[in-house]
Amino acid sequence: MLKLSDWQKNEKLFSFWGGEKLPFADVASCVGPGWSALLEDLCNKLLRLGWDGGLSQVKEKFGSLRFYWNNNITDPTIAAIAEDVVCEAENQSWQICENCGDMGKIRRKGPGGWMACRCIKCAKQEGYPLESWEENYVEQNQKGAGSTDGPPDGGAESRDVEREAGSGEPS
Ligand SMILES: [Zn+2]
Repeated sequence: MLKLSDWQKNEKLFSFWGGEKLPFADVASCVGPGWSALLEDLCNKLLRLGWDGGLSQVKEKFGSLRFYWNNNITDPTIAAIAEDVVCEAENQSWQICENCGDMGKIRRKGPGGWMACRCIKCAKQEGYPLESWEENYVEQNQKGAGSTDGPPDGGAESRDVEREAGSGEPS
């Protein structure tokens, strides 16, 4: 499995801008760090299918990944599979926080505001409006993590869940 840093070293990926082949060294910094693993996986899959590594642009648009690549794969069946692989990765980015890689969703700061895919925690930090259950979730997590008043890890709440789960099953 190639790492993003290896691509930069080996100049595995290159840019098409201006008709010249230039190393696409900044592929990881085109989007947030939360999508690095997704990009890495996508590029590895495409390279295995025979892609030459030619890219024109990698960016975020309307909160999701856009991957503009040069499909040079000659076998039409494999070329079509590769297109699907790109679509799938772009669709997955709707649910991966671009900041941290946790589970996220597309959010916007008010009507007409900037769209971005963020997890609950990053959304809270960056001032995106949260739904009420998400506000509660953040509050509960903060209590559990930082406070000395509450139960320690594996406190009352999780014991209750265990007991309920256990009582329902035949032993
Ligand atoms: Zn996040």
